[in-house]
Amino acid sequence: MIQIPETLPIPKHHTMSVVDSSKIQAFQDCPRGFFFRYVLGLQPEGPNIHLDFGSAWHEAMEQLLLGGYSMENVEVAYEKFLEVYREAFPNPITDDDNAPKNPEYAYKALKQYIKQYESDNFDVLYTETAGLVPIDLGRERHLAVKLDSIVRDRNSGEILSMEHKTTGRNSRSWRDKWSMMLQVESYTHLLYSLYPAEKVGKVMINGSVFTKSRTWDGVRIPVYKSKKQMAAFLWNVNHWIDQIEWHYQQLAKTTIQMPVMKAFPINCSSCSKYGCRMGGICSVFPNPVERFTYQEDGETKVDPPAGYGIDFWDPLRRNVDKADNVIETDSKGNPKIRKKTEEEKKKSLESRKEEQRKHHEEDDDFSYLMKPGEDK
Ligand code: SF4
Repeated sequence: MIQIPETLPIPKHHTMSVVDSSKIQAFQDCPRGFFFRYVLGLQPEGPNIHLDFGSAWHEAMEQLLLGGYSMENVEVAYEKFLEVYREAFPNPITDDDNAPKNPEYAYKALKQYIKQYESDNFDVLYTETAGLVPIDLGRERHLAVKLDSIVRDRNSGEILSMEHKTTGRNSRSWRDKWSMMLQVESYTHLLYSLYPAEKVGKVMINGSVFTKSRTWDGVRIPVYKSKKQMAAFLWNVNHWIDQIEWHYQQLAKTTIQMPVMKAFPINCSSCSKYGCRMGGICSVFPNPVERFTYQEDGETKVDPPAGYGIDFWDPLRRNVDKADNVIETDSKGNPKIRKKTEEEKKKSLESRKEEQRKHHEEDDDFSYLMKPGEDK
């Protein structure tokens, strides 16, 4: 968790104190981008084909892991895919524009998947497991982590995590990035926190490459880190959280009268890397607190720029709510996995359906179809 100062010149939100690997990676890429996304909560409006397709594909993968690699189960997996995909893209008219990240390609890919991996030989122990894992007992600091699956290799007896990732390009940089990624190390850290070190094996990136020319390619990338190597992860992750906390302290000293916000600096080298849409804003407004906040009824509020809404990333609500298994810590601070009760699962489903309902109400006029598809 991140220590947030008592007062800030912007509205405080409970998610500010929750930290996961996505937040840390965003801070590493560009602290100013982190400020926009996770401190102000700005989020581009409308669906994002990459994220929404990835979420739907995760549902299908989970079903294949739980129900096996049969054609009957492909049909069930496809239905689960479709249910999530249609939450974001309710009108099939968008499917052609979204290719290859659309239902037609996903269905073909699922059939290819069970063929390519028919020799998989592991027991599925858990799917969708989320919660807080300690990273510094001295400071009671925790990292929010979610694993797609925990499996046991039937040959070696090792415990692995299988993490589903999708991409549109099977590039060398995409394949190489996983071995050094903090996110993957956070999965390994959770495995070491749950199982004896000698039992912990690799994190397997279960990559799916979707292209118009080849439809689907399955690429699995194993990443193994020894317990000794993981000492660097613990130091790094604490270092980055210290940095984020320091910038929150600097933000607390910022006022709207200041010409420059001396916190969360811009990192120009990241501007073109991920197609960040904040370019114009960063160069025009040296003090974003002045640009993005206003007073109403004695309260400070955020005024998002055109095309953006406010939607805070909440790793606990989004991941733990959806997960079938939760990570809890015992009286000694050791994490344990607890399977959710049927009642808890029912509640999670209801809260998710409520979220979908709101989402559909917001998108009911389909005006997002008219927006240029920057993410497609
Ligand atoms: S435009 Fe560049 S500096 Fe601004 S938030 Fe995006 S990556 Fe950071």
